[in-house]
Amino acid sequence: MKELCDKYARKLAVQGLCEEGAPLVAGLDDVLVWNREDPRRDLLAGLFDRLSINSLVFAEPAEPYATILDFLAARELAGGGDVLRPEDTETRTFLHGIPICREFSVDAMASQLKRRKAVIVPGQGIVSHGTVSPEQGFVFYSSTIFACFVRFFSEYLASLRRGDDDPEFRAVFESVTGQLPPPRTDLPDLAPGPFEDEEAALSAMAEAGRAVVGYGLVDSFFGNISYRLGDVVYISQTGSSLDELEGCIDPCPMDGSTTHGLTASSELSAHEDVYRRADVRCILHGHPRFSVIMSMDCDKTDCPNRGACHVKCTECRTVEGVPIVPGEVGTGPTGLCNTLPPAVASSGAAIVHGHGLFTSGRDDFNQAFRRLLEIENRCREIYFERIGELTP
Ligand SMILES: [Zn+2]
Repeated sequence: MKELCDKYARKLAVQGLCEEGAPLVAGLDDVLVWNREDPRRDLLAGLFDRLSINSLVFAEPAEPYATILDFLAARELAGGGDVLRPEDTETRTFLHGIPICREFSVDAMASQLKRRKAVIVPGQGIVSHGTVSPEQGFVFYSSTIFACFVRFFSEYLASLRRGDDDPEFRAVFESVTGQLPPPRTDLPDLAPGPFEDEEAALSAMAEAGRAVVGYGLVDSFFGNISYRLGDVVYISQTGSSLDELEGCIDPCPMDGSTTHGLTASSELSAHEDVYRRADVRCILHGHPRFSVIMSMDCDKTDCPNRGACHVKCTECRTVEGVPIVPGEVGTGPTGLCNTLPPAVASSGAAIVHGHGLFTSGRDDFNQAFRRLLEIENRCREIYFERIGELTP
């Protein structure tokens, strides 16, 4: 358990979500184990008496996330609310709301965490928990930051579109923007394909998964990767960590003869359909932040679909030729298994509204990765161009 606590504390720092040494991670075996000493341990240990949990993550986020969270929380509280509702569909799927807790006390936090997976305590940080492994706390922590980041930048752009000029928001926006790390433009040197056998394909998938996480193109671990070898699609298992794919990839014959229906990614049928439609061998799917933010930017003020854009949007929107499609996770009529494949097959890439980006490659993951990174970097540029145009 101590090793797991150390592992997820380290991951939070490596992914830039927290400063090195800041995360406090606890896990319950026979006794409660922590990754390090901290004066707040005694108080946090009280949460284990009040909740049916076996692990806990607490940390102040690194900048600019701490500023973003505190700003969003303060505005929500000032407006009489105490729950942040994620706007992107990916986060909404598993975090329906992120409560804000005014005080760092067991009573206050436990009452919120009874119903939720993470809570924001302004000025202190995020507390998240798990019932199986510290990995869950890590995922909910990371997802909270992702949701707040997307919401902060989306809201600022939307406020300018409405003609609002809030000097406080603008000052915080400029401070946050000044602290963003520069976009990465260097490319990883991934294994060259096409791959002839299963072993080569699996190792290339694991390598590509690590690159997607390492470049910050997916948060927590929700994303997926596949490779087609003959008539078999190899795909990451649902909920698998893209930077640890070894042993977490399912072979799925395209004739459906044996199914890994339960463990294979929920997006398997979308991947298969892309392979039926286009001469490509691999697909990458991540949730790069500015691609998600730009997919939700819309200049229509009186759209009847507002609030349900992710399923109902009928506008043919693109980011410089990359189609933005509606689509829910899953296989229903508005599921992305129906909306996504034609778009990826014809353009080699598509953004699912409020969710993430899919790219394909002909032989190996180098081309798919380059497009993933280039589209995200371009979305970031376009975002700031729009801000520039709209700023009074
Ligand atoms: Zn996704």
